This record gives sequence, structure tokens and C-alpha cells, in this order.
Amino acid sequence: MFPKSKHLVFGFSLRRHQNMSLVYGDTRNSLAQRRSFLAELGVDYRNLICAKQVHSSNIRYVKKEDRGRGALTYESAFADTDGLVTDTKNLPLAVFTADCLSVFLYDPSIPAIGLVHAGWRSSKENIAGKTVQLMQENFKVKPEKILASFGPCIRECCYEVGEEFQRHFSDGLKKKDNRYYLDLSGINKKQLLDCGILEENIYDSKICTSCQNDHFYSYRKEGKSAGRMMSVIMLK
Ligand SMILES: [Zn+2]
Repeated sequence: MFPKSKHLVFGFSLRRHQNMSLVYGDTRNSLAQRRSFLAELGVDYRNLICAKQVHSSNIRYVKKEDRGRGALTYESAFADTDGLVTDTKNLPLAVFTADCLSVFLYDPSIPAIGLVHAGWRSSKENIAGKTVQLMQENFKVKPEKILASFGPCIRECCYEVGEEFQRHFSDGLKKKDNRYYLDLSGINKKQLLDCGILEENIYDSKICTSCQNDHFYSYRKEGKSAGRMMSVIMLK
């Protein structure tokens, strides 16, 4: 993850923090679990800004008046959204994953941040690249100044997909013993490099949610009962 900075809060929850979703998995204590995980980071869970994630490439510019959208109810979250960006301080952006990749973006020179929920469908639509573009348009960020970080996700060691994925991806598909495996983090890394982000500024947790299912939720491993981890980022 990023180098520590007094101007930035970021992190992702682990299985021991329990489910962070208000709609998937066991949601009975999700609000209390969010409160306690976010308290570790010094974030008030009532300020959280969340999206109803739909595997799109829709991204929202989050402003002060959006504080708390999706914090206490799923209904109040941004509809049809998989990426959030802001240049406002004290607005904690969140995405929820259980195998999908979270992409954190931070330009300390503005400052401005972005957070992306990147499953294969959103990655196919270049959501990471589109988020950088939106940050350029709205905040005048310079790609060579952006720091990027990848949360835990299912990796090419475990992410077997059908051969029809050859139609979706020209890069990032590995064939082994006649099976196809998708490199979700590799695809997103290439998209960020194509935007002009520097390789040395991309940090990867390298964590596979399926290999390390003891510590992380994996939809592939657990199916419908899987909870969700939270990725969160905030300027301060
Ligand atoms: Zn794995």
C-alpha cells in the first residue's frame, strides 16, 4: 500500500473485521462491524460514501453534500456506480469486494483521490483508466504524480475463466493445462501504465483472496454466503 502520509487515510478490512456489506452475506451486525473497523483508522462510519456496485464503468465525483451516502442504508448509496473520486477532505470513499480488485488512486500534489471496484466486467471497460481521466478533467491531476495501490483480489493462480474470455481480453489471460486464468491486477496495472502512471508508483498487495481465504472473503470459494471486505480512502 501507499507510504504513510498524515494527509491520507486508507486501508482494507480483513475477515477478522467481519462483513462490511449491508446487502451481501450475514448483514446482522454490519453497521457495528463497520464502526469498529473504521474507528481503527480514525474514520466516523456515519460519514462513509458508498455505491450500489453493478460491475459498470460509471464513476462519480463526490462532493461535500454526499457525505454519508450509503453509510447507514444501502438505499442511500450512489446508484449504478463502481468508481468514486474527490478532492474534498474528510470524505471517506468505500468500495466492497470479495474477489474483485480495489484500486486506490492518490495524487498528493493536488491533493485528490479515487477508489475503484474492478471486477472483470468493469476492467473490460477500462474503469481504472476512466477514473484517472475523470481525475484529470476535474482536478488537473498529472498521471506521473499519481500513486496507485491494489487491494486483495483473486489472482491468476486461482481465477479460472471460460475460453470465451479470449473475446473480452487480448492481454491478461494465461493458458495452463488447457484452462484459462485471468490476471485481474495485471490488466488494471496495464491500464494505469497506459494512462501515464509510473510503474514505480504502483503498489500491489499481491494478496490472493482465494489462496488466503482464511484471512479474506472469496466469492469464488464461499459463494452467496460470502461477506465483503471494505476498501476505504480519505483525504485529511
Ligand atoms: Zn490464488
